[in-house]
Amino acid sequence: MGTCSLCGNEYDKSFTIQKGGESRVFDSFECAIQAMAPVCAHCHCRIIGHGVEAGGVFYCCAHCAGKAGHQEIRDRA
Ligand SMILES: [Zn+2]
Ligand SMILES: [Zn+2]
Repeated sequence: MGTCSLCGNEYDKSFTIQKGGESRVFDSFECAIQAMAPVCAHCHCRIIGHGVEAGGVFYCCAHCAGKAGHQEIRDRA
């Protein structure tokens, strides 16, 4: 039995995610994404996939990285 650290729901199938020494309990991936997924520095959407990193900042896709001035980054066609 765990209590979701985001919404407070108690759920017997809750799970723990560890990231950089921090560990948090969630009842759903939706809550985990809301709490832990990085945000695109250009369009501010949640980065659920791999995303791209440029200059220490995360973007959801190469398009956003390009718009933010990182023209060297391309999605693989
Ligand atoms: Zn929750
Ligand atoms: Zn974006």
